[in-house]
Amino acid sequence: MWRDLAAIGRHSGSGGYRRYAWTPADTDCRAWFEAQATGRGLNYEVDRNGNQWAWLGDPGAGDAVVTGSHLDSVPDGGAFDGPLGVVSSFAALDELRARGAAFRKPLAVVNFGDEEGARFGLACVGSRLTAGRLDPDDARALRDADGVTLAEAMTRAGRDPGAIGPDPERLAGIGAFVELHIEQGRALDLEDRPVGVASAIWPHGRWRFDFRGEANHAGTTRLADRHDPMLTYATTVLAARKKARLAGALATFGKVDVAPNGVNAIASRVRGWLDARAADEATLAALVAAVEQAATERGDRDGVGVTVTRESFTPVVEFAHDLRDRLAALITAAGPGGPVPVLPTGAGHDAGILAEAVPTAMLFVRNPTGVSHSPAESAAEDDCLAGVTALADVLEGLAC
Ligand SMILES: [Zn+2]
Repeated sequence: MWRDLAAIGRHSGSGGYRRYAWTPADTDCRAWFEAQATGRGLNYEVDRNGNQWAWLGDPGAGDAVVTGSHLDSVPDGGAFDGPLGVVSSFAALDELRARGAAFRKPLAVVNFGDEEGARFGLACVGSRLTAGRLDPDDARALRDADGVTLAEAMTRAGRDPGAIGPDPERLAGIGAFVELHIEQGRALDLEDRPVGVASAIWPHGRWRFDFRGEANHAGTTRLADRHDPMLTYATTVLAARKKARLAGALATFGKVDVAPNGVNAIASRVRGWLDARAADEATLAALVAAVEQAATERGDRDGVGVTVTRESFTPVVEFAHDLRDRLAALITAAGPGGPVPVLPTGAGHDAGILAEAVPTAMLFVRNPTGVSHSPAESAAEDDCLAGVTALADVLEGLAC
């Protein structure tokens, strides 16, 4: 499976993956998924929101056990974020068949579309639409950097954007969803364990900061006469880092857009995006307010206007405790090493979106460096295989 996926959407210069929603690379990943499904004799379908499903048993029977993740990537992403969950799901199904497992419930592998939001700026579009947490009109109007709307992109990829929207009947037929994912941190490595179970996902969001100054000549404008939004922006970036450290939270400016973007011109406008995450919503709100205040205070000194727009927000997700405990018990029963670690994460996932509607749990596989959203992301083969075994144990306990 890895061999077939390896070349899809890989950028020869960076070595990272550029599998953005509804692009040719995404279409190739989706063709791979369909081939994996049909090659195993599973019933393949695509739902109204473009998510792919591979069913063993009758989806209409209800109380289905579903596992899977996503195949799209961030810009120059690693090989494992997303695909490890999908590959492991198919491998776990193979393992269960090899064990001769008798399935009491329908089982499905899913590939949720557009999880990373790399192209249209909003994460988890496929699962958000399905869960009724994204208005279909708002989704269709999302635009990529070239001005192409999501509706146009779906149409070009052969999908009907008019059909997108909530899918409560589908969710009602699911008894449990388990997403396996590479860990995006080093907690498992520090505990020297290959596999863990998620406790919660930190609340997180994206805020757009617009700094409006005045374009002017870099060689003739006195420093005292400038209204340079780059200064306000730079101060805001440093403030975000400091406030996050003091709050035990995370704040990142990872994307910036400058106008007119000339070497010898004072910028007229700087637009920066803040990604902020914290263990609870009150801490997160206080953090963002503090960053905004720092930006505004500095903007007043620079003669620069500042506006802050919240572009997305995902509340805290506490995974279903009974399902989480069941997972931990099933995995512990499979091997030595004490109870399986239970850990929170600052990363968003489709599992976090579905958790409100469906009992949901996550498994993490050790990431020895903790690096993710980068070509340097890695996982050891033994750990990946331990993840497959753990997922197979879990699926057997839930579905057989
Ligand atoms: Zn992911």
